[in-house]
Amino acid sequence: MVSTFTKGVHEVGDGCHAYLQPDGGWGWSNAGLIVGDGASLLVDTLFDLHLTAEMLDALAPVTGAAPVQALVNTHANGDHCYGNSEAARRFEGVEIVASAATAEEMPEVPPSMLAALNQAPGEVGDLFRSFFGEFDFDGIELEVPTRTFERRLDLDVGGRSVELIEVGPAHTRGDTIVHVPDARAVYTGDILFIGGTPIVWAGPLANWIAACDLMLGLDVDAVVPGHGPVTDRDGIVAVRDYLALVDREASDRFGEGMDAFEAARDIGAALGVDERFSEWGEFGRIAVNVEAVYRHLDPDHETPDVVEQFRRMAELERS
Ligand SMILES: [Zn+2]
Repeated sequence: MVSTFTKGVHEVGDGCHAYLQPDGGWGWSNAGLIVGDGASLLVDTLFDLHLTAEMLDALAPVTGAAPVQALVNTHANGDHCYGNSEAARRFEGVEIVASAATAEEMPEVPPSMLAALNQAPGEVGDLFRSFFGEFDFDGIELEVPTRTFERRLDLDVGGRSVELIEVGPAHTRGDTIVHVPDARAVYTGDILFIGGTPIVWAGPLANWIAACDLMLGLDVDAVVPGHGPVTDRDGIVAVRDYLALVDREASDRFGEGMDAFEAARDIGAALGVDERFSEWGEFGRIAVNVEAVYRHLDPDHETPDVVEQFRRMAELERS
């Protein structure tokens, strides 16, 4: 049931839709819609209000008879929640659900902060525009979750049972996956990047690997990642393999006393000739991922600020 990677709505299982945004790179996230009898559940919104409005227009033929009664944010990154206010405007009284950790993290990077970085003069502005210049963060009011949970929440969506399973901290502090057993489908948020490199903002990597194992234990055919094309179990295995390799290789270099950025260069060079990973986009994210391993091994390890982390990713991808 793997569909083509084209922009728009794809039905991946009975009443389970994915909304895909190629090329799946920085900010080009996916969302989902699970349709029950007279009601539906939206899985994530997009990075700005225009993109989210375009998506909700595309879903309107379905939501006309099954309005969105709840929205779940899989995690706190803006490309999965900055469009919440557009969803709330269209579906009055919509419940916004997230893990407690996600709800706590969400206000830390408000849209106004990205708007300011995108408009910053000089090198910092140029850097951020090179990642996020195509998005419009001006005037977005962030709608935060109205209902939170820890570890597990079962929702009834128009008579269908949907399981929210918190698997973070991993990509962020509170990642949630959304499992629809009767359709054998799972929406993974950014626990899966397909065709692009996973980025470990929080970690530890062991938690993320455990999340992959949890997903491999589900009876699913259709796997909707946070970025990239719809996949299946093979996509989960590939991400698991990448994380296990990075965890092992970075731990070895930490043990040898190698500087974290030097380790990232070194491992990045090896990944670049590894046929399993060499075609993945955004490979500079190895810099952030090695930082997560170093912090886990040494709680006193100081990760540079986010501007410096973006500089490093850009530098690796230039070289
Ligand atoms: Zn994302």
